[in-house]
Amino acid sequence: MAEGKSGIFFMEDALEMVLVFDGSGIISYANAAAMKKLEYDKELCGRHIGDVFPNTFRQTEDGFETEHIFGDEIKNLVAYRRNLTCFPVEARILDSRESAGTYICMANDILEKEFLNKEIEQVKQEAQQALKVKSEFVANVTHELRTPVNGILGNVREMYDDSLDGRTVRSLKLIERCCDDMNKIINNILDFSKLEAGKFTLEPRKFHFRNMLDYVKSNHINKLTEKGLGFFMTVSPQVPEHIIGDELRIVQILGNLISNAQKFTSIGKITVEAVKTAQVNDKIELFFMVKDTGIGIDDADKDKLFRSFSQVDASISRKYGGTGLGLNICKQLVELMGGRIEVESEKNKGSTFSFSIWVGVCEEEENASFQKESQTVFEAPPPLAGEEESVEDIRKYGTPQNFKTLRNNLSKLILCVEMENWEKAEMFMETVRELTNGAPREVGRVVLRLKMAIQKENYDKITTAFEELNQILNP
Ligand code: ADP
Repeated sequence: MAEGKSGIFFMEDALEMVLVFDGSGIISYANAAAMKKLEYDKELCGRHIGDVFPNTFRQTEDGFETEHIFGDEIKNLVAYRRNLTCFPVEARILDSRESAGTYICMANDILEKEFLNKEIEQVKQEAQQALKVKSEFVANVTHELRTPVNGILGNVREMYDDSLDGRTVRSLKLIERCCDDMNKIINNILDFSKLEAGKFTLEPRKFHFRNMLDYVKSNHINKLTEKGLGFFMTVSPQVPEHIIGDELRIVQILGNLISNAQKFTSIGKITVEAVKTAQVNDKIELFFMVKDTGIGIDDADKDKLFRSFSQVDASISRKYGGTGLGLNICKQLVELMGGRIEVESEKNKGSTFSFSIWVGVCEEEENASFQKESQTVFEAPPPLAGEEESVEDIRKYGTPQNFKTLRNNLSKLILCVEMENWEKAEMFMETVRELTNGAPREVGRVVLRLKMAIQKENYDKITTAFEELNQILNP
């Protein structure tokens, strides 16, 4: 009963005309769309189906005659309105399996459908045109922005000479860094708009895989070492020496994930792994993992990550910066390379971003791969961190590993203060604060004093708090 009712409700709201008639041709139900299109009020019920489709149904004494074959097939018919004007329809007339001698006719106004299709086509074309205009605008603006930024950069680099005092050199370095950051943002916006407009093409060519990883490592090692983070890279022996792929874009994806890992990790290490997971003829699937021991991501936020302009929350973007485009670009690039990108993460424990891509292998590599079966490539960690040091031990206040890392960060912090690099001093301060989580209250108080003194750039108070902390760490 309930089912029947919901069926009627469904038909009543349908955009297509629905008519139900019986073996004698009498219409027993007409939905709102049918009554409106055929220009009847309620009295459509009780009429003969031949009044609506006179070319298809001829009224007879005991019902109707028709050549129409009932069933799912769509037929072009002519429907007549009450005032005897007509219009073409696409109709399906079924004989109901549930009650014999009952027929259901569903019909669409072809002219209206054609009109709607034309409208949809026009809207589509307008949207495509708007997208084209937008991407051309973005391409022009980013190009125009890049020119002055590179102009500033070039001039700043020419200004360096031995006669400059320390303060001026620091300012020039800051301008240089700002220009580099600006260039990164401009490039991201340009890539993003090209990807969105479907105008992005990959440029695959043969390259040396491990050299590419070395290059990625060399781009990040300074910042990682500066932060005191361990960095490990492993490549499984099955990955060939040379592959055919878009090297620049693979570097971009890895670089983005490693930059994020570095940005959101203050204690511990970052590990990069590359393995071969499948081969079909001359194509192989490579699987990469970038793992960190940083702030992690809430389950609820994981869905947002790969959307454009999405950052987990405003406080994160304030603290760490960024445009929220990086992961979306990575996702689109990975998908262009026939793969997927995923994240696994636990708040305050760390994150693992993994992705797969399909690349080509050269003929000579296919033959050589058997000889490399037992070879393992392992990139040595930087001298500051040892793999045997567990991150848990480093985080736990009072362990030898924790004190060692604390001393390390404090000496870097004081160096930054002496160089008046307050931004970096605050970064190391943040790590010191994390490393003293769970410390006795008096230690917490000194750490807070040190933090406030750094924020106020008060050299004397910094020195006092620093010495107090030093005494606690070197009793
Ligand atoms: P952005 O350039 O702003 O970093 P991304 O698209 O690369 O943009 O990252 C979007 C957001 O995802 C970041 O703002 C951060 O909240 C989160 N995120 C990305 N990588 C990590 C990571 N390794 N650990 C914790 N959060 C991350």
